[in-house]
Formats: sequence, structure tokens, C-alpha cells
Amino acid sequence: MTGRRSTGDVPDLVGRARDGDARAVARLISLVEDQSPLLREVMAALAPHAGHAHIVGITGSPGVGKSTSTSALVGELRRAGKRVGVLAVDPSSPFSGGALLGDRVRMQEHALDRDVYIRSMASRGHLGGLSWTTPQALRVLDAAGCDVVLIETVGVGQSEVEVAGLADTTLVLLAPGMGDGIQAAKAGILEIGDLYVVNKADRDGADTLRRELRSMLALADRPEGAWRPPIVKTVASKGEGLDELLAEIDRHGEWLRETGELAARRTRRARDEIEAIAVTALRERWGDVHGRSELDELAAAVAAGESDPYAAAETLLAEL
Ligand code: GDP
Repeated sequence: MTGRRSTGDVPDLVGRARDGDARAVARLISLVEDQSPLLREVMAALAPHAGHAHIVGITGSPGVGKSTSTSALVGELRRAGKRVGVLAVDPSSPFSGGALLGDRVRMQEHALDRDVYIRSMASRGHLGGLSWTTPQALRVLDAAGCDVVLIETVGVGQSEVEVAGLADTTLVLLAPGMGDGIQAAKAGILEIGDLYVVNKADRDGADTLRRELRSMLALADRPEGAWRPPIVKTVASKGEGLDELLAEIDRHGEWLRETGELAARRTRRARDEIEAIAVTALRERWGDVHGRSELDELAAAVAAGESDPYAAAETLLAEL
């Protein structure tokens, strides 16, 4: 049980993680996943060492080539001498099953590389889910000296938009023959991408998809000096176009730093994280988590017409 380890282990673990000990990194991420009581101390110890890594989110419909692209990008980053973290999260499922990226065969080529950390994480239905656990896992990888951390969501739903909220740079992958051209606007992905990737460019329809995407992106109202998301064509399965993709990721990173947008995004993220932690703490106090509580009593009174919701909310806040 990770939760029962003595607190004396934390400085040691953090020290070893910073020295690049993969097992220490894995252990710290497990503490995050388990929401260990030691997390407070861990986060305090990590805080001065975070902020170096470029966090790159990779989103797109299932089957579009996210996992293949992630693996190819890791290879490209390693050739450039970068230390890389990969975090695959499945916010839609409480199971950390075999379908997650870290367990996929494609990533095995990097499994023995000391400078690549690969980790899959299920949010396990915790309160706050992705908004709470993922930034903490990212902070572990960042403090462990990763130059770039790739974060990929597995599964569908609003996770695509959520991952964009966690990354410095968000890649949106599309592929021909998946109906993406039409669906793109619907899913709201035209707002979240810093870079668009037309993968499976070896297939028919890649140029049409790129044209469609370009004209849709051109409709967006972007202020003077705003970032204009480029569209890169790749064949991830053959490693084609990955050098250009990496160059565009770097260019976006530069732009973020030069314009001050990086600090703005990170402040926004910290704000969300604080809020998620605070709201979770409040809910725990109200007994949302354990059994019948003050909140339940008040709810019963409101339902019975003995009180009104405003008065009940005031009572609840006054209790704090
Ligand atoms: P994910 O679900 O988005 O992670 O997609 P995967 O990376 O698992 O890829 C889905 C399928 O598409 C796999 O069979 C890949 O081998 C294949 N694939 C990935 N990239 C390409 C590509 O550039 N061209 C072609 N033809 N197939 C690809």
C-alpha cells in the first residue's frame, strides 16, 4: 500500500526521480493515481523543479493514428537528443486495461530506452478526474527532467477538449476516409488545435481533407499576431513528415515563449488545478464522499419544503 509508506521516503523518491530513475518516476505516478496522502508532500517537493518540459497534447478520433504518431514522435525526439515522457490517459474508463498506449506493442521499441518514460493512467472515476490527476502526473514527468511530455487521450468523448486544456501545444490528428472533414467543425476541434495533422497521407483523400481543413480554419476570426495553426501531412506508420511535425511543434513552443502565451496558459492551468483540488476538498467535508452528511440533511429539508436551497447553501458555507 503506497499510502502507508513513511514520509521519509518522499525526498528520497523525488531525488531519485530527478536523477532519472525510472522506477522512482513510476512510483511517484502511482502515488498520484492512488491519490495517496503523501501527494501533498510530493507536490511540494516537485514544485521547484517543474516548468521545463514542453507539454504536447495529441488528440483525434480513435483509429486516426495517435498511438503510431506518438511512437514515431518519440523516435524523432530521441534522435534530437531529447528526454521524453509519454502519458496516455483514459478519462472515459475506470479500467487501466491492455488497450492503453503504454502496453501497446508499438511502444515496445522505446521500452528499454532510459530517456523515455511511458506511462498509462486511468482516472479511475475519481472526483475531479482528469483535471486533478493528470496535471500532477505531468508535473512528475516534468520534474524528472523530460524535455517534452506527450499526452495522449485514449477513448472518446469530451476528452479531446480536456487534453487541450492540459497541454502547451495541442495537436489534432485527422485522417482521410474517417468522415473527419465533416465532423471536425461539430466536435469543436477547430478551436483547440495549435497544429493540425493530416495523417495517413498515403491514402486517397488526404489532399482534399487538407484543403477542407484549411478553408474551415481560414473562417476563424483570429486577431492580429495570433498563432495560425499549420497543417502538416504525415504517414506516421512510415515515419514520413515527422521531422516537419516536430519542427512545427518547436516553432509553436518558441511562439508561446516569445508572446507570453506560455505563462498565460500555465497560469490558467494552475487555476483549474487549484479549483479542482479545493472543490474536491469541499465535497469531502460535506460528506459527498463518505456516507450521510450535513449536505444530505439539508437536501432532505429542502425536498420536504422545510428550507430553501439558498438558505441551505448558506448554512453549508457557514459550517466551514
Ligand atoms: P489511434 O487509435 O488513434 O491511436 O490509432 P493507431 O495509431 O492505433 O492507428 C490505427 C491504425 O492505423 C493502425 O492499424 C495503424 O497501423 C494505422 N496507421 C497509422 N498511421 C498510418 C498511416 O500514416 N498510414 C496508414 N495507411 N495507416 C496508418
